[in-house]
Amino acid sequence: MSSRTSPAPRAALAACPPYVQGKSAIAGMEKPIKLSSNESPFGPSPAAKAAYLAAVDELHRYPDGSQRALREALAARFDVEADRLIAGNGSEELILLALRAFVDPGDQVVLSQNGFVMTRIHALAQGAEVIEVAEADWRVSVDNILAAVTERTKVVAIANPNNPTGTYISAAELRRLHAGLPADVLLMIDSAYGDYVVAPDYDSGIAIVRTASNAIMTRTFSKLYGLAGMRIGWAYGSPDVIAAIQRIRTPFNANAPALAAATAALGDRDYADRVRDHTIAWRGRMAAALADMGIPVVPSVTNFLLLTLPADSGLTSKGVAAHLLERGIIPRPLGVSGPGNSLRITIGTEEENLAFLAAMESCVRRVPSPVQ
Ligand SMILES: *Cc1c(COP(=O)(O)O)cnc(C)c1O
Repeated sequence: MSSRTSPAPRAALAACPPYVQGKSAIAGMEKPIKLSSNESPFGPSPAAKAAYLAAVDELHRYPDGSQRALREALAARFDVEADRLIAGNGSEELILLALRAFVDPGDQVVLSQNGFVMTRIHALAQGAEVIEVAEADWRVSVDNILAAVTERTKVVAIANPNNPTGTYISAAELRRLHAGLPADVLLMIDSAYGDYVVAPDYDSGIAIVRTASNAIMTRTFSKLYGLAGMRIGWAYGSPDVIAAIQRIRTPFNANAPALAAATAALGDRDYADRVRDHTIAWRGRMAAALADMGIPVVPSVTNFLLLTLPADSGLTSKGVAAHLLERGIIPRPLGVSGPGNSLRITIGTEEENLAFLAAMESCVRRVPSPVQ
């Protein structure tokens, strides 16, 4: 008989690091400027809010388990097959379900060094051996990933654009990655930030998934559409991949107000376009202003910037974060969990961005210049 006094969780769970959420409050501060979680500073479109409010009268009904309205709206918008779409409680749930459907204990899951933290946690919880592949120049390295794939590899997962780097690989590179994988390896493409990318050589994964038998792309309403609190995401996958996930998802994994709000958000294209254009304009302005201060920024196609503090600048991610927090601004320092001495900053409203830049100016000025 075991001497345990409580049930033992599965052994794989011991290897799972806890997820650390971005800081969302500053003690004693009423309304901090939250630039730590890549949320939209504008919130959802008025149409999405109205759909959410209207859903209140139907809260006693189960959601549409077939998720038909949202799937059909997505199919029309992205020119994909509705029966190959699935919605989830955030795209994060769909990443979890894909890993659960395909990964057995001991299988290898190949991840890029800077991908989505939750992908790694879910793979570890599955009992997978996680192989993390180095990036090159802050970008996903297709060569390094392909070199890491072995007979035991079951899944290759990347975020494109990547987080926290903000970079992307081109459609041609993505094609090369897919073409280099054995047909029995599942390629998972997390395109949470795909809605911000206007580069003509970008493929969110739709073009690959359309004809592949071993690929899935996940997307979200948490970022551009401002619905992070609703928890609603979607995936487009190869027919067999979607069928496997359908078998294990709970029938009502996407709740009714979330389905309604997301469908409405998708319909308000002007609003989404305006948010995207604001983000792109300020992303450029902020990167330029930071470069003028001597702070390099990784070129981003997303709604955030990765500030890489030079070793000789006297600036540390911890020190800069403390300086910003004193001024009511919450960044995401990545000194420990992410790349080296860096901070991730979400693009905010004009007012928030200007406050951030002013705080950075005063931070940089405060540090004595290095002796020449
Ligand atoms: C924000 C984010 C997501 C979105 O997760 P949701 O569960 O849809 O909110 C997925 N992947 C990455 C890389 C992200 O940064």
